[in-house]
Amino acid sequence: MARKKQDREMEKYWLKRMLDEIRKKEGRGTELISLYIPPNRRMSEVIGYLREEYSTASNIKSDTTRKNVQDAILKVIERLKYYDQAPENGLVVFCGAIPRGPPGSEKMEIYVIEPPEPLKVNLYRCDDHFHTEYLEELLREKEVYGLISIDINEAAIGLLEGRRLDVIATYTSGIPGKHRAGGQSARRFERLREMEVHHYFDRVAKHVNDVFLREDIFERLRGILVGGPGFTKYNFVEESDLDYRLKKKIIDYIDTNYSGEEGLREMVIKGKDILKNVRYVYEKNLVDEFMSRLARRHDMVLYGLKDVMRHLYDGAIEKILILDDFDYYHTKLKCESCGYKEEKMVKAKDIEKLEHSGLKCPQCSNGIMYPEDTKLLLDYLHDTATEYGFKVEIISSKTEHGKIFKQFGGIGALLRYPLRY
Ligand SMILES: [Zn+2]
Repeated sequence: MARKKQDREMEKYWLKRMLDEIRKKEGRGTELISLYIPPNRRMSEVIGYLREEYSTASNIKSDTTRKNVQDAILKVIERLKYYDQAPENGLVVFCGAIPRGPPGSEKMEIYVIEPPEPLKVNLYRCDDHFHTEYLEELLREKEVYGLISIDINEAAIGLLEGRRLDVIATYTSGIPGKHRAGGQSARRFERLREMEVHHYFDRVAKHVNDVFLREDIFERLRGILVGGPGFTKYNFVEESDLDYRLKKKIIDYIDTNYSGEEGLREMVIKGKDILKNVRYVYEKNLVDEFMSRLARRHDMVLYGLKDVMRHLYDGAIEKILILDDFDYYHTKLKCESCGYKEEKMVKAKDIEKLEHSGLKCPQCSNGIMYPEDTKLLLDYLHDTATEYGFKVEIISSKTEHGKIFKQFGGIGALLRYPLRY
């Protein structure tokens, strides 16, 4: 289990690094192809679509752009031919001619990526850069809620991620009604029925344990809701082999009209307020912790953009708290002449100014510094979180605790150990 998780983390880490490289690449014209193929899509369909794009591309006026686009499409088709259908998580292809120097120096590059989680986008785009943002979105850690919907006849388990419900499995119990067939003794019938109920509960519970305790799920699992009509849901939690760690995560029970898959959907609707409240409490606890450290353990907390960024890479930060409307961007200023780099945080409106600032390089005092690799600070933090071992916690700005937190600059950090200045 632990090893598997580590592998997956490494895989994500390398993928992030790779995307950092791919994101920077620029085409000479609108000629870089990004292709996102959803899970299990038949390749013959995708290739058919690409052939159409190939003929559409013959309308492109510029000779080199047309040639580069068409060459890239052919190259992608050539690679896709190895597949009957897209892998279980889908497939992402980036392909295009990347300039190495003067016009004519372009080299065709292709990247074929099997994402670590199922793709939800279906996209073909031809642009002057590669569209990596959907893959990056996929790599973000998100919170999930576990849902169990159960009555005596059927059950279903699901995971709620944001607004998306994943139905993991459905079960039917096959347990007969309470009325026995003629000739059977009442006691024997009751005993058999009880055994069957237990067998059914354990079958569901075992699967719930397998899925919800998987490390990549469990560490993001904020809570579990158990729903269904009647009392079966309580009996299930009490009498089944549901793991004690999962029992501790149960937030609430929800009465529904349906069980099984239909019941899950009902739970999502009825549980909305409960989940919103859980999120609220979770955030409030973080801000409370931040405030209490400010009062008592001042050396275990940071606040303000400057201080957080100063210690971002030294491993001391456990959690970064940041408001959802924190609108700073992260960029790297690079000297055009010696390559010296400096990181800088700017407001959106100041990015343009930075392009034309004519800022002199502090290293060689000769070259001009230009911004590159600019992205929303929130995204930058998400991207670097794994590498530097911190977690990013987003605080809603509209809540009471969000407003309190705003007074401290809208960004802060909880530390693993005290810092010495
Ligand atoms: Zn320089």
